[in-house]
Amino acid sequence: MAAINIPVVLVFSGSDPTGGAGIEADIETLTSLGCHAAPVITAVTAQDTFSLKEFAVMDASLVVAQARAVLEDIPVAAVKIGMLGATSVVAAVASILDDYPSIPVVLDPVLATNAGQPLGEAALEDAMRALLLRHTTMVTPNCDEARLLSPEGDSLDACGQAMLSAGCEYALITGTHDHTRDVVHRLYGGTRLLETYTFERLPGHYHGSGCTLASAIAGNLAHDLEPANAAANALDFTWKTLKHAHRLGMGQYIPDRMFWARDTDND
Ligand code: PLP
Repeated sequence: MAAINIPVVLVFSGSDPTGGAGIEADIETLTSLGCHAAPVITAVTAQDTFSLKEFAVMDASLVVAQARAVLEDIPVAAVKIGMLGATSVVAAVASILDDYPSIPVVLDPVLATNAGQPLGEAALEDAMRALLLRHTTMVTPNCDEARLLSPEGDSLDACGQAMLSAGCEYALITGTHDHTRDVVHRLYGGTRLLETYTFERLPGHYHGSGCTLASAIAGNLAHDLEPANAAANALDFTWKTLKHAHRLGMGQYIPDRMFWARDTDND
């Protein structure tokens, strides 16, 4: 058997039947980046490419059982956290991470769909700030999520600092939901703004861009990249998945995480 390095990424995420966001996006992204995804289902959503119809969150004990089954069997190189849906699930994930302090963790603080429909209880951001940020290597909020996670912040820079003070190592605030001409992403670490990344703003509305980005960062960390390089590579990969996105339904575009494998021009 050939010896190839396929790092395993444990993913906490909800299911999206369109295949655009959620665990389906995570598995595709990680597979595309040469990782193996170990998916822990936290919730099931019913949605199309326009809107969310309903969702049900898993019992916290079943989330714990899924994660512990994997962690006790397979060496995990990174953890990616997406939709958690309930504060009981946030607490359960935090208690698992207490036992694995050396595994890098990427937290996509999923609070709502891209169209703004809530994907969990109202107190979710408070629980994430109190229980999860201290376990987090890199948190990846968009501007709206950054303001919710750090309500005392009166600017994006202040929000970045506040998330670092709450215990995460790096905060990548994405600019997709901002109203700037180009999309500007900001990476904070230590006690300051480390880097900005500017991308051409693409015209469509996308379903699963945040999931793709956070999984791509986790995949790059699992391949042992330094966090700032992992973020830069993941932003570049995600932009390409959006550039090659397909309108498979009648609403938002679905990123093509396998764009490089198609028989077309894939710059
Ligand atoms: N996770 C699940 C299960 C979802 O349904 C959604 C959005 O619909 C998200 C995460 C966040 O998606 P996005 O990456 O578009 O912000």
